[in-house]
Amino acid sequence: MSFEIVEQKNRSKAGAELLDFARKLYPICRSITGSGIRETLRLIGERIPLKTFNVPTGTQVFDWNVPKEWNIQDAYIKDSNGERILDFQKSNLHVLNYSTPVHTIMPLSELKPHLFTLPQHPNWIPYKTSYYKEDWGFCLAHDQMLKLEDGRYEVCIDSTLRDGHLTYGECFIPGKASDEILISCHACHPSLANDNLSGLAVATFLAEQLSGLRLRYSYRFLFIPGTIGAITWLAQNRDTAKRIRHGLVLTCIGDRSSFHYKKSRQDNAEIDRAVAHVLKHSDPSAEIIPFSPYGYDERQYCSPGFNLPVGCLMRSVWGTFPEYHTSADNLDFLSADSLAESLSVCASVFGVLENNWRYRNLAPFCEPQLGRRGLYHSTGGSAPAFEIEARLWVLNLSDGTRSLLDIAEQSGISFSVIRDGAELLESNGLLEKVEPA
Ligand SMILES: [Zn+2]
Repeated sequence: MSFEIVEQKNRSKAGAELLDFARKLYPICRSITGSGIRETLRLIGERIPLKTFNVPTGTQVFDWNVPKEWNIQDAYIKDSNGERILDFQKSNLHVLNYSTPVHTIMPLSELKPHLFTLPQHPNWIPYKTSYYKEDWGFCLAHDQMLKLEDGRYEVCIDSTLRDGHLTYGECFIPGKASDEILISCHACHPSLANDNLSGLAVATFLAEQLSGLRLRYSYRFLFIPGTIGAITWLAQNRDTAKRIRHGLVLTCIGDRSSFHYKKSRQDNAEIDRAVAHVLKHSDPSAEIIPFSPYGYDERQYCSPGFNLPVGCLMRSVWGTFPEYHTSADNLDFLSADSLAESLSVCASVFGVLENNWRYRNLAPFCEPQLGRRGLYHSTGGSAPAFEIEARLWVLNLSDGTRSLLDIAEQSGISFSVIRDGAELLESNGLLEKVEPA
């Protein structure tokens, strides 16, 4: 079973398709509840088998309650000539996400406390939310705000905030084992590309490609609103959570930065080692960062009561790049190549987890004679030393306690070469697989 899903020659095709999918989702005004996230899930559901769940407003989930459902039709500010000087139809970032409805006329002095800008990037619109405090507001370019003249403005936010549902989507792909790999991404940001759409696109394509394979693990993909979605899912799926053996939160994985991987709270879980190994062999500039209790939904999965082995894969680290949570996190900020490479890295990580078996050497007294078995030259004919080296490492360290990832780490040889070596030795009767306890 090969997990090198995205071969080099298919990279540009995969990248273009990922970017197209992000483009399709980009205009939707998403939030933690409401029709925007539902429409997003509907489009994801056109590609993969997605089950959606609706949890009613007021449902208690641990220390939280599912909030009211927010929907928005339109919003604007009109000047005294009746011109829309700010228009939700042009950018959904213009509205403070979760704004309560308002329709009134007011002087600039009264309007100003409801305007949010980003003075350090005067042409960008900031992305702001007010989920848990009822408020209304507009976000706009700082330069535009400076040009507003005194006078009276018509202010309208045509939104509703009512009892309804929190909606999330789940795609379950069964494998041989009931043990699960969790892939989680948030689907609650409006027109923001790297922060939300990159994760959604890569997760959707991963689910699509895994669907056709025979799998060791079962895979569960969650498309959820950030924070409250993960808390809701964990509250309602405590038994399922016990089956999670490895997990990844995917966010900000479409920009041009090198990779960053934030480790799980367990610090040295198999997923942490698998990602570090894959990145070491694919992106020399990648950085591994320690766990911290702030970030995306790994915060919930790694809360002490669950302490699941779930890390967070990023390119640029959330909150640290200037475009983060602004209108500059747009489709141009994404790169098709980066998206394709992120897809490929995730697939390679799954490849490690799927194939990380332990073996026992059946001929442990001195080296078996590889040449006699045709194993002292490469399968391709000529003999790249590393293939032979990999076989010797596998034979030497396969004492039934070390996994192939242990051997890959100790030898410095990439997992896929170690795995190929082990499979070849097994088929030649020199190794046997040790079934996990
Ligand atoms: Zn965000």
